[in-house]
Amino acid sequence: MKIGIVDADLLDKGTRFPNLAAMKISGHWKRRGADVRLCLDFADACECDKLFVSKVFTATQTPKWLGLLAARCEFGGTGFNLYDAPPLPNEVERGRPDYDLYRPFVESFGPKPPSWIDMYTKASIGFTTRGCFRKCPFCVNKNRNRSIRWDRVENFLDLSRPYVILLDDNVFGCKDWAEIFDELAATGKRFAYRQGLDIRLVSRRKAAALERAKYWKEIMFAFDNIDDERAFRRGAENFRAECTTTSRAYVLTGFYKRGVDELNDVFKRLAVLSEYRIYPYLMRHENYKLDPFAPVFVDLARWCNQQRFFKATTFAEFAETYGSRKTRELLHSRDLQSLRATFEADFFNVSGRKARQKKNEPRISTDFTKRLARFRVSRVVVKFRRGAGAASFGQLLEARRALRSLRRGADRTATPNAF
Ligand code: SF4
Repeated sequence: MKIGIVDADLLDKGTRFPNLAAMKISGHWKRRGADVRLCLDFADACECDKLFVSKVFTATQTPKWLGLLAARCEFGGTGFNLYDAPPLPNEVERGRPDYDLYRPFVESFGPKPPSWIDMYTKASIGFTTRGCFRKCPFCVNKNRNRSIRWDRVENFLDLSRPYVILLDDNVFGCKDWAEIFDELAATGKRFAYRQGLDIRLVSRRKAAALERAKYWKEIMFAFDNIDDERAFRRGAENFRAECTTTSRAYVLTGFYKRGVDELNDVFKRLAVLSEYRIYPYLMRHENYKLDPFAPVFVDLARWCNQQRFFKATTFAEFAETYGSRKTRELLHSRDLQSLRATFEADFFNVSGRKARQKKNEPRISTDFTKRLARFRVSRVVVKFRRGAGAASFGQLLEARRALRSLRRGADRTATPNAF
């Protein structure tokens, strides 16, 4: 029997993370002796007797050609039913994922695949717990009541892979978290929780466990609502008392409030995060598009989510240089004037800002200005090389002049304004 797996997210906009349910279905059918393949197009799907179509994101469009094969298809995943997606049958859920499923996709990149392909080739993936008791209204878990122990790490561990990625919803909400951390430590592999950990539940003991753990990359938390500030601070104090690991927090925006209120809320959360040296990662809920300041949120995410900008510039500076025209107009509009001081605040290093103000130093260091200028010059040169119309000859001359003055060690006012 030929079984086809369709990862709809992959075929629509692409995704940088494999679909675990698809891998489990594939593993199940391979154990039953079926010939399983990942369908990347209509021709692949036509050859299959049965098709399993899975998607994670509601915004994903399923391929139109599936309509011609509808009689063979079985659909599943949160992308089809966000809050009440039926679970996989128990024998499929408890089985080992098939880590070879995505091999044709990985091989399509040739000898030099992008770095994110590691998620497909180097990580064992699974859930150690499932569910959460918080019932956040935007979350797929809003109908669940608690976080329960789900699977043992050894059941989905691939010894040939160096990393373990866990998709748990709220591991610290489960009473067995310490046992899970012991299991992870026993594998000797680096691991990471892909969803944000619940910092409101971080005690000194949990923070010490995080410090001891062989964590892969940075620890992710979540700070979705300023109303949680007290609980967040309590957890962050515990975390920072025991743990020095670099960390980030998802900052949800576009869901609870609108307009100036929402911007105010976001900046308050950024200020709290900065106090604990936790970088933000702004997550825009799809409803942000309904906000009158939607373009500001787009640029806010570009600023927050790139640490080099967040550390070196204020939002006002970033928006002036890299923001869209719409954002710049909005920032100067009367509606947002009350937030002016917030846009000009340095959220990463409050004490550093005060020291600079005292010495009357410029906000951006000369080093950063030089790097910025070089980046802008190189962009003009690239545009010019790509052909007429991309950048004018005048812009190129101006860029070159600026570059020369930079080489002569000219002052920061030499930053070219070539585009
Ligand atoms: S805390 Fe996280 S996992 Fe739990 S309901 Fe809220 S968003 Fe979902």
